Amino acid sequence: NSMVPKVVVLVAVSGGGLIAYSESQSDHGASIVRSSETEPKKKKLVVLGTGWAGTSFLKNLDGSLYDIQVVSPRNYFAFTPLLPSVTCGTVEARSIVEPIRKIIKKKHGEVRFWEAECFKIDPVNKKVHCQANAGSNLNGTGEFVVDYDYLVIAMGAKANTFNTPGVVEHCHFLKEVEDAQRIRRSVIDSLEKANLPNLSEEEKRKNLQFVIVGGGPTGVEFAAELHDFLTEDVGKIYPNIRDLVRITVVEAGGHILSMFDKRITAFAEQKFQREGIDVKLGYKVTKVSDKTITMVDRENTVTDLPYGMVVWSTGIGTRPVIRNFMEEIGQADRRALATDEWMRVQGLENVYALGDCATIYQRKVMEDVSAIFNVADKDNSGTLTVKEIQDVLGDICERYPQVQLYLKSRDMRGLVDLLNDAEGNERKENRELSIEEFKKALAHVDSQVKFLPATAQVAAQQGEYLAKCFNRMKECEEKPEGPLRIRGTGRHHFRPFRYKHLGSFAPLGGEQTAAELPGDWISIGHSSQWLWYSVYASKQVSWRTRALVISDWMRRFIFGRDSSGI
Ligand code: FAD
Repeated sequence: NSMVPKVVVLVAVSGGGLIAYSESQSDHGASIVRSSETEPKKKKLVVLGTGWAGTSFLKNLDGSLYDIQVVSPRNYFAFTPLLPSVTCGTVEARSIVEPIRKIIKKKHGEVRFWEAECFKIDPVNKKVHCQANAGSNLNGTGEFVVDYDYLVIAMGAKANTFNTPGVVEHCHFLKEVEDAQRIRRSVIDSLEKANLPNLSEEEKRKNLQFVIVGGGPTGVEFAAELHDFLTEDVGKIYPNIRDLVRITVVEAGGHILSMFDKRITAFAEQKFQREGIDVKLGYKVTKVSDKTITMVDRENTVTDLPYGMVVWSTGIGTRPVIRNFMEEIGQADRRALATDEWMRVQGLENVYALGDCATIYQRKVMEDVSAIFNVADKDNSGTLTVKEIQDVLGDICERYPQVQLYLKSRDMRGLVDLLNDAEGNERKENRELSIEEFKKALAHVDSQVKFLPATAQVAAQQGEYLAKCFNRMKECEEKPEGPLRIRGTGRHHFRPFRYKHLGSFAPLGGEQTAAELPGDWISIGHSSQWLWYSVYASKQVSWRTRALVISDWMRRFIFGRDSSGI
């Protein structure tokens, strides 16, 4: 009977011991990878992705508790905050990656890794459909299916192009290690091309026009890194063309680094202006052709800018596999997989999502905010003094750290400035403000603060949190009255995830960094650059990458950056 599955038992030697797993042929031809037969009682845990969220989850997970399989098209973890440094050779690509097999080898128990892409998640039958990366040849088809009891989705996001024509064809992205390597080659190619003897000055200028679309942290850091490279290293090597180089940052909003404190935004804009980096604010790119980039300003004036190289860095979008999955589970109207505060995908059993592909959906934020305001308004007057509003906000921020981040955003700056002005000023402290007005401003909160920022910091904390939950899962199931149970709710075994914001950096070039640290502490300049070096060295995933990154920084200080373009 051709429908009878063909079962092959493979035996592999790993970590000195023997493990066995069975592989069978499904009726549509794809292999099915089943759980380890030597340990049938363990629940099957499948992790999709080996980025910040997936790796942090794996590092903190007790590997002996589950039958773990990891699927990812990259067999390494990449330290993304240093990708801009790779684009100009400040740090080498190899220094910021760690093989995932090295990380999982340190786990107790067996963890199997498949270098493949998941292209379909089937929550009804609890299966993920995967395709081996091009080059590998699993059973001839490259497709296989993995069963799960628990699924952890940590597939990150893709670059967002807003469907702008020509972006995919002509622009570079800065998302993966390969992107950074391509940019590095392209920068050197542009310089070499502009240096050729048969080019007119106009053609040289065009080749040396570097455009960065998006004035967020990644775009700004890349612009700063490129400027340093061109002024500190390349200028000496290409004296003929040095003065023709131009860097332009195009930003659709009114400011670059708009998510940072306004002092940082102002400092960065002034620094770029002093250094001759052209910052075009309020310009929206509408099209990119092979020669020019077309943009419109707020008065609808169209500008065509000839370019040599464009880097597109305008935020993140949803991966197609996640988008299809969201449609299937009734989340088509969301921009990322909605989870509760325990990372469980809404409406599904035993499926968890974290990192850039997920968003914690806190329906209650605005309800809570309204309730807190109403309680504070004891005399029902519809107004509160500035002092009372400050207390209320303190309360809200403690409960929802996202609100604290959001309060710094431009939408809220007017109101926050008003409150800050009142500090230490008795007369203003007693000034009455309408609650309604304040709530209106906070109404944005509902659509904004549900989303934690898409950062490595959030992803890593979520990974660690979820691993700790998984480590205690069995114990909690056996002893539901255990210490982690939240008394009163009776529903969850674990405390909900709470994000702890540890601060953010914006490297601005010239050995200067802006740092926004907890407690509203802002530091800009050389001292923050040293803080940046120490934090990023300490956050490395292994001693090997730490040593490599530090030695790259030292090499750059002593010999400068390499401009060979390999
Ligand atoms: P990722 O780290 O992107 O990992 C996704 C994983 O899923 C990868 O392993 C990928 O190979 C895998 N995957 C993709 N498709 C599939 C599939 N179909 N099947 C299975 N696996 C799949 N954050 C900060 O906090 N600080 C910074 O300074 C900072 N700087 C940054 C600089 C740059 C240039 C970039 C691009 C990002 C930066 N970030 C920074 C953001 C940070 O990198 C992301 O927020 C973080 O990587 C999100 O983690 P993640 O695990 O969700 O996704």
